[in-house]
Amino acid sequence: GRKSVIQNEPFADFTKKSVREGFPEAIKQVRSQCGRVCPLFINGREVLTDDRMDSVNPADPSEIIGQVCQAGRAEIDMAMEAAGKAMASWRDTSPEERAQLLMRAADIARKRIFELSAWQVLEVGKQWDQAYADVGEGIDFMEYYAREMLRLGTPRRMGNVPGEVNEYFYQGKGIAAVIGPWNFPFAISAGMTSAALVTGNCVLYKPAGPSSVIGSTLARIYQEAGVPDGVFNFVPGRSSVMGDYLVEHPQLSMIAFTGSKPVGLRIIEKAARVQEGQKQIKKVVAELGGKNAIIVDDDADLDEAVRAIVYSAFAYQGQKCSACSRVIVLEPIYDKFVRRLKEAALSLAIGPAEDPANYMGPVVSEEALEKIMQCIDIAKQEGSVLVCRDDLDVPGYYAPLTIVENIRPEHRTAREEIFGPVLAVMRVKTFDQALEWANATDYALTGAVFSRSPNNLEKARKHFRVGNLYLNRGSTGAIVERQPFGGFNMSGIGSKTGGPDYLVQFMDPRVVTENT
Ligand code: GLU
Repeated sequence: GRKSVIQNEPFADFTKKSVREGFPEAIKQVRSQCGRVCPLFINGREVLTDDRMDSVNPADPSEIIGQVCQAGRAEIDMAMEAAGKAMASWRDTSPEERAQLLMRAADIARKRIFELSAWQVLEVGKQWDQAYADVGEGIDFMEYYAREMLRLGTPRRMGNVPGEVNEYFYQGKGIAAVIGPWNFPFAISAGMTSAALVTGNCVLYKPAGPSSVIGSTLARIYQEAGVPDGVFNFVPGRSSVMGDYLVEHPQLSMIAFTGSKPVGLRIIEKAARVQEGQKQIKKVVAELGGKNAIIVDDDADLDEAVRAIVYSAFAYQGQKCSACSRVIVLEPIYDKFVRRLKEAALSLAIGPAEDPANYMGPVVSEEALEKIMQCIDIAKQEGSVLVCRDDLDVPGYYAPLTIVENIRPEHRTAREEIFGPVLAVMRVKTFDQALEWANATDYALTGAVFSRSPNNLEKARKHFRVGNLYLNRGSTGAIVERQPFGGFNMSGIGSKTGGPDYLVQFMDPRVVTENT
């Protein structure tokens, strides 16, 4: 029988020889495929375009991972037409059939987990363990949403008045644009696309530019799993050319987006305007940024706290919307904590993700690097530098691991998302002040508290207002079904991924009443 709770994919276990050896082999194999032309995938077939973009290895930008064909307006029209034709029959397939598609896709990804991880090591600079966890999370999303659709796919009888039968059920909205981020290039794209598909929508999937080749591996998985023609279309492209066009398309029913706040707000605005010939009001599900804080109470276990804070702030170079970018420390423990944090940060090995000895690697692109460097300049003016690892002399987009203290809530460094390895340290007198400062941003995504005081943990539970709060645990690494993930305020709109309210956002409910 099928379990109602999914079995989450395990993390990479490097005590196993097969895992240790799986990575170098897969990296070698994937590297031999690098530099190829990466086509679009529309209506069940590959489509080539003249406009191409090189996707490169951030640790060595001279290495081309793939030459990615770029969709223009004509290709968006083509995909929209194919999706429109496929929609009627896909929407009316049974929930079981659609759930089966996801489970087959999950099986394929599971068999290829090393290969899929290796693409991430090379295309977006993810460390081995991080890449493996990302693919595992993508598989979890597919397994979880498959089961969720079976739960929601059974019509519900409403009320109990004699002589009347009311049935409540859902249908897919129509055509969904899924616009993915590069930081969880498999997991989040697999999550959003599988949710859209399993609920009976046809999909136009646009990966983020820097992770387009990884996006194409997802397209291939759905194809092999047997997705009907036109139901899933892979349309990488330049936002400046086709971004607005896609979002404003009159045939589009909804948009699922994960990415930055400015882009998310732009999508919401564009989608709200009704276009000529448009029949549906577009729904937008958008998971945006964070400015997440971890509070270190005066009785915190520093062995735990320092390790978790370093991981939350610097793993994958801090390029997670869940990353810790502010640590708020109680005065009595301040000096002790800061000394240990500094030592830990100075001890981290930095270099290409390909070498598992490195804890931290390059950021994803030159553009990202420039933005982070500007933020570091501002942080240096606003606070005092505790650590700045700018001693690296290698090619690649390396942003220095930076820790700055004496930051206050009004500073830009305490309010603006940086999306890089930059941590602000803030000193407070009381736990209440810590909570007040933690809440003093426009975002509300994740947060964490290290404390041994039941009273303070209880206070945090009530007053630390974020979507995902972790007590005595770091702020990253939510697990599908166990920690449904997502925030509110400027952190986004829509319900949590990997949670029980996620799929209903992709459907319209209907009721049929029969007078008997
Ligand atoms: N779900 C991820 C985590 O809990 C973060 C997702 C994101 O960065 O978009 O770490």
